Amino acid sequence: MSASEFAAKSYKTRGLVLRTHKLGEADRIISLLTPEHGLVRAVAKGVRRTSSKMGATLEPFMEIDAQLVHGRNLDVFTQAQLRHSYGLALAADYDAYMAANAMVETAERLCEGEEDAVAPQYRLLHGAIAALARGAGDPGSLLDSYLLRALSTAGWAPSFTTCVNCGEPGPHDSLNIALGGVVCRACRPPGSQSPAPETIALLAALLTGDWPVAAASEPRTRRAAATIVAGYVQWHLEKVVKSLKLVERT
Ligand SMILES: [Zn+2]
Repeated sequence: MSASEFAAKSYKTRGLVLRTHKLGEADRIISLLTPEHGLVRAVAKGVRRTSSKMGATLEPFMEIDAQLVHGRNLDVFTQAQLRHSYGLALAADYDAYMAANAMVETAERLCEGEEDAVAPQYRLLHGAIAALARGAGDPGSLLDSYLLRALSTAGWAPSFTTCVNCGEPGPHDSLNIALGGVVCRACRPPGSQSPAPETIALLAALLTGDWPVAAASEPRTRRAAATIVAGYVQWHLEKVVKSLKLVERT
């Protein structure tokens, strides 16, 4: 390949490593979320060899600057440099690591085939992974806040204040996942839930990022909110986000 052909086929991008898969003897396929190119799946050659410089960089939850070339099927990494080594901090904290896994799995689902609308999702995921890595809060609450905001960014904003059906100002004490949040007594369809008022207040705080309210919540309130968030994610993503089931709530 000539230098000009290489330049035409190559591109640089910032990205977050979501997942890696083994390929052949020494290679990996890397799922990379990028703000401008969407979700990129590309081959990193020789990275499972101990001599590989790129190997430690192309690990889950690392933010990198990468150079890639377009391949016939998958793109191929030619360079990767660390911007933020979130993966190292997360590997040392099981709860944060599991929350990060659930975040990237959700991001991957939301960004699949969405090349143009990925930049806001990238910012959101990057902020959430960075917060987990620096221990900015309870991992479960950071996860639930991320999930509610990621769904909102995808166009499925829930409401935990005004009635989702008629707009009647709250607080309301009934919640309907299929409708997307709280419902007033007049609108309440059969099968709606009646969570504790503090659970609804916590959901509202997680959606808006009101950390003092989230941090002051009781563990059982967090668990109740987590169940509702997981139900809401599943309703919209249809398939169960597997990692959500693995996140332990204490
Ligand atoms: Zn209503």
